[in-house]
Amino acid sequence: MQTETQSVVTPIVNSSSPRNFFSLTLADLEVLFKSFGKEKFRAQQVYKWVYDKKVTDAEQMTNLSKDFRAELGNMLTFELPAIKTHLKSKDGTQKFLFDVGDGKTVEAVVIPAEDRMTLCVSSEVGCNMACKFCFTGKQKLQKRLSSDQIVGQFLQVQNTLTGDQRLTNIVFMGMGEPLDNSDEVFKAVEILNSQWGVNFSRRRVTVSTSGIVPEMWKIAHHKTRLAVSLNGYDDESRSQIMPINKKYPLKDLLKACEENYKESGDMVTFEYVLLKGITDQVEHAQKLYQLTKHIPCKINIIPFNEHPGSGFERPSDSQILKFQNELMRLGVHVLLRRTMGRDIFAACGQLRSEFESHPKQMDTSNSKLTRTLHLRSNSENNTHT
Ligand code: SF4
Repeated sequence: MQTETQSVVTPIVNSSSPRNFFSLTLADLEVLFKSFGKEKFRAQQVYKWVYDKKVTDAEQMTNLSKDFRAELGNMLTFELPAIKTHLKSKDGTQKFLFDVGDGKTVEAVVIPAEDRMTLCVSSEVGCNMACKFCFTGKQKLQKRLSSDQIVGQFLQVQNTLTGDQRLTNIVFMGMGEPLDNSDEVFKAVEILNSQWGVNFSRRRVTVSTSGIVPEMWKIAHHKTRLAVSLNGYDDESRSQIMPINKKYPLKDLLKACEENYKESGDMVTFEYVLLKGITDQVEHAQKLYQLTKHIPCKINIIPFNEHPGSGFERPSDSQILKFQNELMRLGVHVLLRRTMGRDIFAACGQLRSEFESHPKQMDTSNSKLTRTLHLRSNSENNTHT
């Protein structure tokens, strides 16, 4: 594992405007303090106050000198993205809508399971990849999130959990293509991983990509796990629904997956959305097996949830089962993804869309929100959810 001082340090300019603390690795903070003529160890002290003791008011950082405390405000701000909406589903799923400035919002989702509590975070507002089955893909890229806005999703959500509940896993499967914003995404991973901070293991972070091949090496390099939004069994079927496949075809994508495995030793996760008549036939399962059999992997199959104007249909339950059974018969490690949080706008981008369409009707109480749920039936069509 890299140590703090081995991480890439962002150039720090001793400017008049304070930096957001949550965008800084420990090494960044050391450089910042040095630029103000302060000792290096101050960075560890402030890191501990904020991440360990949850104190962001300089006045309460009692082991810092009075003068230093007074100066901190010129160097740092401690702003986190505000929670606009927090919804809880009957099945335990929780959804958060965050204000990321410029009138934009992003979503994060907590997905509980027996042995884990996974946070799905967003990396962008909208997305340029334009995957045809994806709700977010219909909204062009509007903003790439900064590392503090990514770290902030984690911290804000963790703060709302009660008792001894802890987030155990992070998946970059929310709004946006993480490798389209890789510098900020991996900076956020570095910050969360800091032993002086949250000390969240990189090994519990999964980065999902639609297949930006030239950036994929970074996933193993930063010791995170790879998920690939595959959704096709050959180039023709994939290009039909994922325009990125025309730029980076399967040959290149699968080679990058193999390289990831060689470098990390981790199984690759392939996400595969089932579209009626397009990707859901038994012969498609056989081709999918042929395509991926040389890569140690598991395949998550995600039945499409219909929404008006999508142009796709969800397969029948019996067809979904046939597809799953065929993969199992072939010895594939396959998981059928259960739709969760249906009563709180499960689809990635759906809560944000509701909020921006009807801001006055939105409320943090589920009862008010479920009134409008019937207006949209989109669900987990974003394979980044
Ligand atoms: S599936 Fe992911 S990469 Fe594709 S459009 Fe949606 S958010 Fe973007």
